[in-house]
Amino acid sequence: MPNVEIIAIGSELLLGETQDTNTFYLLRKLRDLGFDVFRTTLIGDNPKRIASTIQESLERSDIVITTGGLGPTVDDPTRDAVAMAFGCKTEFKEELWMDIRNYFDKMGRSVSENNIRQAYIPELAIAIPNPVGTAPAFYVYKDSKLVLSLPGVPAEMRYLIEHSGTDLLLKYFPTQDSILVKTLHTFGLGESVMDEFVGDLEKSSNPTLGLSAKQGIIDLRITAKGKTKAEAERLLNDFETEVRNRLGDNIFGVDDETLPEVVNRMITRNYVKLNVIEYGTGGAITKALSPSSIQTSSVQEMPDMSFSFRDHVQNIKSKMEIDSDSPLLICAIFPISDSFIRSEIYLRTNRKEEYAERNYNSLTFSVDQTVLSAFEMIRKAII
Ligand code: ATP
Repeated sequence: MPNVEIIAIGSELLLGETQDTNTFYLLRKLRDLGFDVFRTTLIGDNPKRIASTIQESLERSDIVITTGGLGPTVDDPTRDAVAMAFGCKTEFKEELWMDIRNYFDKMGRSVSENNIRQAYIPELAIAIPNPVGTAPAFYVYKDSKLVLSLPGVPAEMRYLIEHSGTDLLLKYFPTQDSILVKTLHTFGLGESVMDEFVGDLEKSSNPTLGLSAKQGIIDLRITAKGKTKAEAERLLNDFETEVRNRLGDNIFGVDDETLPEVVNRMITRNYVKLNVIEYGTGGAITKALSPSSIQTSSVQEMPDMSFSFRDHVQNIKSKMEIDSDSPLLICAIFPISDSFIRSEIYLRTNRKEEYAERNYNSLTFSVDQTVLSAFEMIRKAII
């Protein structure tokens, strides 16, 4: 399988002024097309350094995709850098100059002398017209290696990948495997517990299973490769079934689904209306619930360190006349020392009542953790 490297060019990227979303986009695109990406590089606007990076990448990989540095100014280094990497000059292309002038005409803008630079591309390169911007893209195919240079503006880069880049990659490297990826989401299982469930599956080479954890959510990313899409699908489905057999309803969603989305859907489908009381959360749970699923909501200040959540819940229960069909959710976050925050949640449904409590380091605590824990509790209560 051919290997790809991506080089994102632009000093503003290295200064942290612009986030490199182009690489992120290309990684997903290439994955879906069935290409293996070996390495990505961020590099400033220095043509010599870019040229040597391209040469290095070509020693390891079959395809190099660059983004950025195709603008009209002397500082835009990619044309010269690619020429240098292949030991050739840049040359003026009359047809590109015409395209650039036409583009400016259509936009009602006057073309500047600087734009003529964009009509120069490496002698060995074939131009890729850019109907959505002024910077033409180009590619060089030599000794079975491909360098594809795309503009930095994300919308232009994406347009060119969708409309010509993909075809070009598949034309020169047609025998790709099909790669399918599916991510299953779980909440609240520690990483070591997860390891007990699926540790052996993590050793599988195809499909592979990768875990990543953030704010109590552990994602299980299954990647399956097949000679055809059908084969990849079959491998992925069989593997997913095995993972689901082990984790059961700990899995709350797939791919882009979030826990609040999934739970809001379940609440709506089950015509549940909640009574919510929050302390110290700024109303984060009420905000995350869809309005139609709230019967009553009360948002209170953060209690002080002497607060006893369970006493408080008992108090509320004895004082409040709450319709037993409407679940009651009470959440509080409050400091328990200079360094720790306690998050407590109580949920009563017509079937059971449940408490969850946890201490967090106050430097890293985010109220989202309490919101997610509350949503998971509601989800478990509904299923
Ligand atoms: P143009 O001539 O259309 O400006 P270009 O190829 O010269 O195209 P750059 O000048 O390098 O592109 O970048 C243009 C803008 O695109 C940057 O200011 C930045 O906002 C954005 N950009 C560049 N590279 C990236 C990247 N890797 N990820 C996200 N945005 C980027």
